[in-house]
Amino acid sequence: MIWNREAECMTAEEMEELQLKRLQNVVKRVYENVPYYRQKLDNAGVTPEDIQTLKDIEKIPFTTKSDLRNVYPFGMFAVSTDEIVEVHTTSGTTGKPTVSGYTAKDLDLWGEVIARALSMAGATRTDIVQNCYGYGLFTGGLGVHHGGQKVGCTVIPISAGNTHRQIEVIQDFKSTILTCTPSYAMYISEVLEREGIPKEDIKLKAGVLGAEMWTEEMRDEIERKLNIDALNIYGLTEIIGPGVANECMEKNGLHIFEDHFYPEIINPNTLETLSDGEKGELVLTTLTREGMPVLRFRTRDITTLRKDECGCGRTHVKMDRITGRSDDMLKIRGVIVFPSQIERALLKIEGIHPQYQIIVSRPHQLDELEVQVEASPSLFSDKVKYVEDVKNKIEHHIHNEIGLRVNVSLVEPQSLPRSEGKAVRVIDKRGLDK
Ligand code: ZN
Repeated sequence: MIWNREAECMTAEEMEELQLKRLQNVVKRVYENVPYYRQKLDNAGVTPEDIQTLKDIEKIPFTTKSDLRNVYPFGMFAVSTDEIVEVHTTSGTTGKPTVSGYTAKDLDLWGEVIARALSMAGATRTDIVQNCYGYGLFTGGLGVHHGGQKVGCTVIPISAGNTHRQIEVIQDFKSTILTCTPSYAMYISEVLEREGIPKEDIKLKAGVLGAEMWTEEMRDEIERKLNIDALNIYGLTEIIGPGVANECMEKNGLHIFEDHFYPEIINPNTLETLSDGEKGELVLTTLTREGMPVLRFRTRDITTLRKDECGCGRTHVKMDRITGRSDDMLKIRGVIVFPSQIERALLKIEGIHPQYQIIVSRPHQLDELEVQVEASPSLFSDKVKYVEDVKNKIEHHIHNEIGLRVNVSLVEPQSLPRSEGKAVRVIDKRGLDK
């Protein structure tokens, strides 16, 4: 079922014409209303009149997370705060969060793109959406909420956590669509199995799953265990939240709602724009957002764009599932972790070298983090009890720094691999880059 056939099935020519008109409009709006952008464009010697073709977007400087932090909290707003009716933020694990402001029209837009996403999963007025994305400043909960109501679904704003209650609601309310992270869907399926809930008590038919990287293997397992179609949703707070792109039932890439979000792929090292089919960093421009338009935002997410015809009839460009990041950020159980945070924790402890390696695995469908740290020679020859103390101390310091429990192993001095150039700090065994 296609939510907005006119928008989702237009020809390439129609789309380009619309995108250009909207791009010219948004550049003009930020130039006139956001001093930070005006300065940035002036510095680059670009004026709104320079945007004559879609290709001219390449003249515009990129926007990064640090730009958004520079003007924290409201400096990116293109309207007065009187017009802003809702705000959300990123988690801000690694510094000030970035803020996203929405006008009433923006909420309508957000509802529209989520409505398209839910419709891809077959949602109609008769469906009951169990929304286990977190409500609050995080965009997941309320984003899906706005879109679900636009479709006319019954939305259950249950938010994340309390799995026992989730399962009770799945049975009692006969939920048909589950919206949450893929790892939480997996966890729910395991608990259902463990508690021996009869299959006929579960009416779920689809899952709209996102907010973390996952694999085809994980999709297969979720689909088999919950007997649903599991679709991938993509988005980010800086652009709007979830609802930038979503998979159709072909399950072969995510359609980007490109009448609202203009995608480009760049080489993250040279910053040059790449062609369709080439792998690189996704860059997004909001074409229609009123409250906080963003030009050429570097998402750091690695993917490929494809303009193939799709069996579902939609014409929007497709992106492959995200396979990595252009920075060294890790997402562990939904929490953002940078290796530098682990390093910071290690530097606080005497008797160890800040030589370490982070090993991420997903043994039981839940991310696990192991940190191997080199002990100093004196420590290594010391009594077992003392070594255990140091290990606990490291675990404690890392927990304080990143908010997650990790397993620490102390290894012999000089035993971790050394590399010339950039140290290989992270070994990710989750197989997410397949
Ligand atoms: Zn499709």
